[in-house]
Amino acid sequence: MKEFVKIKDLTPNDFNIKWRMTNLCNIHCSYCIRYKHRVDINDTCVKENEDKLCEVARDISKLLEKTKFNNIRLNLIGGEVTIFDLKRILANITTDKVKVINITSNLMRDVQYYIELADFCYSRNIKLSICFSCHYEFITLDKYFEKINQLKGKIDCLTCELVSNDKNQELCKDFIARCEKCDVYYFLDADIRQNQAEAREKGLLTSSKKKEPRYKVTFADGTEKIFETRNQFLTSKEIKGTKGLKFIQTGGMYCTNSYNYIYIEFDKVNGRSSSGSGCHELIPVKDFKLLDKPAKCNSDYCTICGHMDLFKEL
Ligand code: SF4
Repeated sequence: MKEFVKIKDLTPNDFNIKWRMTNLCNIHCSYCIRYKHRVDINDTCVKENEDKLCEVARDISKLLEKTKFNNIRLNLIGGEVTIFDLKRILANITTDKVKVINITSNLMRDVQYYIELADFCYSRNIKLSICFSCHYEFITLDKYFEKINQLKGKIDCLTCELVSNDKNQELCKDFIARCEKCDVYYFLDADIRQNQAEAREKGLLTSSKKKEPRYKVTFADGTEKIFETRNQFLTSKEIKGTKGLKFIQTGGMYCTNSYNYIYIEFDKVNGRSSSGSGCHELIPVKDFKLLDKPAKCNSDYCTICGHMDLFKEL
């Protein structure tokens, strides 16, 4: 284990937003962390949430218009964000500063839904990146890969993911073989009941198709290491301070949260006010003000570790 002095997001975007739009989902997997609190969705509750998200999107657009940043990446997470008409919500982000949209989806929607979303992004010069999570309790590998084959080439960046555990090694091997045949980037995200580091040792978390490097970590001894995904460094045994639940040891480090990175939970920014205290202030997007420079972290561990940069010295 080594102490790190810097974590740098290598994506070419100068501003990142992670927006948790919902905790609602159209399936309920037994291994989901929200399984006990599952809520069945219906058209009314989806529509009500969607109307509210349209308003939030307008507030996000206004916030972005005021920033000095022009190359913005919007990462939409859930729950399952495709329960909504995403085109309708995203149409409210009228600024042309958003250049990349990322989503994770369980691939339960018709292929046409994703194709129309890709066309919408394409018409606005936005690059669309989708990670399709395979939840084997609800979709067979045959059906999953039938859809992946229809979508391949129609989405700028397509990644396949399987939530794996020790009990389904055959499924993992089958999934990997099919990804290799399709020539897509993939990863296996270990079931949170399992130990990711162990899963990595078993060789389950690698893809022969390579991705653009995503993070660069600089260690106190001056050495550096590149990671392709956030999961890779969060689960790396080399990094001192990563905890089982993907917390990073951050006490005293400078962080770019609320400077060029924001994490929004539904309609509130989980960020810092200008006093720089903590990261658990929930501030409505419409009232939120960005910091004018990175500030020191006041926590020992980061519990919302996302895509912000971290560094020992300013
Ligand atoms: S807790 Fe807040 S300030 Fe600390 S690293 Fe995480 S996001 Fe940054």
